[in-house]
Amino acid sequence: MRLVDGSRVSLADLNHQVLFRERDLGKPKAAIAERRLKEINPFVTVESYGKVLSQHNVFRLTANCHALIDASNNAGAGALLNLAAAKQRIPLVHARVWAMTGLLTTFWPGRGPCLVCACLETPSNHHPALLSPLPGIMGALQALEALRLLGGLGPALLGRVLIFKGDQFNFTEKIIRSNPQCPVCAA
Ligand SMILES: [Zn+2]
Repeated sequence: MRLVDGSRVSLADLNHQVLFRERDLGKPKAAIAERRLKEINPFVTVESYGKVLSQHNVFRLTANCHALIDASNNAGAGALLNLAAAKQRIPLVHARVWAMTGLLTTFWPGRGPCLVCACLETPSNHHPALLSPLPGIMGALQALEALRLLGGLGPALLGRVLIFKGDQFNFTEKIIRSNPQCPVCAA
């Protein structure tokens, strides 16, 4: 497992980023996450990189990966991971959360739509408060999808966006399709 995160643990992270503790405040997230995962499972192989993803490092940092997991909740990082997934023709499990809503899907350039094909929109005028269980709910589903991919079961969410609404307490789905003219993934 390769973790990439250039930020440091802040107070606002503690209510929803379960790998971090109060004593970790101000410390680099990637290194702390690596240490905590090894405490949970000493047999896990983790490499951490305290770097902000950029067009200069994304291909190097994603080299030789079987799948990419976008848990950044950041449009810029998501776009970079999408480029890397398209170049390497590997799956990208993408989740995002805002307010009381979470969204999850799997992009797989060459087999299904990519992030650019999908044109997913996050409302810009949403209430800023993120309900703290949301990243956990979507993160657990994202991990399940990643395990399916790595275990050979195949993606559950290729061409399908799963949307969880915490205010209505329901899951809905939306179908997405590849765009044959897509500037990123069209062959
Ligand atoms: Zn595309």
